[in-house]
Amino acid sequence: MAGLIPESFIEELLGRTEIVELIERHVPLKRAGREFQACCPFHDEKTPSFTVSPQKQFYHCFGCGAHGSAIGFLMNYEGLEFVDAVEELARMAGLTVPREAGSAQRPDDSLYEILDRANQFYQEQLRGHPEAADYLKQRGLSGEIALEFEIGFAPAGWDNLLKHLGEGKETEALLRRAGMLSEGKSGSYDKFRQRVMFPIHDRRGRVIAFGGRAMKDDGPKYLNSPETELFHKGRELYGLYRARKGQARLDRIIVVEGYMDVVALAQFGFDNCVATLGTATTGDHAELVFRAADEVVYCFDGDKAGRKAAWRALESTLPRLREGRQARFLFLPDGEDPDSMVRSKGAEEFTKMLETAQPLSEFFFRHFTAMVDMDSIDGRARLVELARPPLQTMPEGVFRDMMMEQLEALAKHRLEDDRDPAPVRKSRPRLDKAAQLQQRTPLRLALAHLVQNPSLVEWVSESSKLKDCDLQGMEIYHELIDFCSKHPNMTTAQLLEIWRDHPAQPHLQTLATWSLEGEKKQQAQEFRDAMTSLELQWTDTLIGRLQKTVDQDSTEKKLQLDLLLRRQELKQALAGEEK
Ligand SMILES: [Zn+2]
Repeated sequence: MAGLIPESFIEELLGRTEIVELIERHVPLKRAGREFQACCPFHDEKTPSFTVSPQKQFYHCFGCGAHGSAIGFLMNYEGLEFVDAVEELARMAGLTVPREAGSAQRPDDSLYEILDRANQFYQEQLRGHPEAADYLKQRGLSGEIALEFEIGFAPAGWDNLLKHLGEGKETEALLRRAGMLSEGKSGSYDKFRQRVMFPIHDRRGRVIAFGGRAMKDDGPKYLNSPETELFHKGRELYGLYRARKGQARLDRIIVVEGYMDVVALAQFGFDNCVATLGTATTGDHAELVFRAADEVVYCFDGDKAGRKAAWRALESTLPRLREGRQARFLFLPDGEDPDSMVRSKGAEEFTKMLETAQPLSEFFFRHFTAMVDMDSIDGRARLVELARPPLQTMPEGVFRDMMMEQLEALAKHRLEDDRDPAPVRKSRPRLDKAAQLQQRTPLRLALAHLVQNPSLVEWVSESSKLKDCDLQGMEIYHELIDFCSKHPNMTTAQLLEIWRDHPAQPHLQTLATWSLEGEKKQQAQEFRDAMTSLELQWTDTLIGRLQKTVDQDSTEKKLQLDLLLRRQELKQALAGEEK
């Protein structure tokens, strides 16, 4: 279920990884009873509510609700995708990730290697070409920052890179796969020529592509690597690796349009900037950004194209605006970009501009109220028609409710003296509400025990398997019991990772965070009680169903009697009559 990586490997990997050790490398942990505690790396707090359980191999924060296995921790902390997190953990454990037969080949290391060598080459060339270094100086970049961003130079000519990396079919094929060549009538030639080169790193810091800025006015001003096995524009952000280096959470992340902006802002101390790579902001981008910070400021040109780009960003952001996340929009005056802005205004002024940027709600409602005649009923009805569908893409929660209310208010009343709609204020993240609201029904309690301690499956008797029970949620109960009987020695983390793609997994994750008191013996008792209560619930349902049958024949009467007897037994069991 874990994609193309065999389940058995995920199990082995988590079996060899000690989550306490892994997390300790990033967050100092203190022992507290059976668990370890720390101030949460995923939200601001003064008293620790982040706990790590060696038994479950699982972490959970009671403050913000963050939770998961060692794999989940790396995904969350370093912003890695699932496969990358698995590879990273495997590297630490000295294991190689096997691939299931028939799965798409992972790009081999030689591809990363050749891009790395290209990167070295371009940087050497920058040192050898004063005109390129001068150009950067002219743009106001220091040598230090150029070095930090590994900025290089692709000299004029058709085959500099090809020649330097060694001609030959193999190298050429690799360079082609890496998107570094163009094809002409008489063969391949260097794609990037006479350009300042910006290497693009993936979230693990490996070079996967380049962006090149023209120094002369021929050809496109910016040229990016094409999509390759390694590089997918819609999923990468320039500068993200550097911005996140060594930090789990940033307070804020700034999304700008070009890599020059990222570099220039970094020179002024803004280390939290990223740029999309010649594409509109996608949903993947928005997700990446929110994994790194709770607040994002989209910084766009104030012209028509900039506003259009901002609207696309807003549409990609709405479905990801969970509790505690917020987005703002900063539109720059005509003819300005972040680079020129920070130079003319200075860092302090630019920070102020970021802090007072338009909240998403304001941008959203202004966009629509400008499109309709707010003075007429028809216009206001149109407003509702236009604004509701995008609002419906938002996750349920306080913020969405407030946006809906604002829309209703706008539809009902004409805006007084044409004032802008008041921005909707975001509330602070609520405490793990979902978990708190989960009522401890017998079924959920039984599932929680099993997820937290799969070996409890030994207490499941034939009758408590409730094979024919069709109550809501029972499929998962049956499936989980079946799974645990096959893997009684799994940890919570292993189980959840193997169930990662199962539709019920998020529910099980929540149940894994429930605190279940007592030692193992007491927990076993509680688990059995939960199963007994569940069976009782089912027995009552069956009795109820039988009572509804008008013409009861003798078989049904007999069955009813049996059930009533069983009910009696179950009640007694719960009252503590066994042993
Ligand atoms: Zn937290």
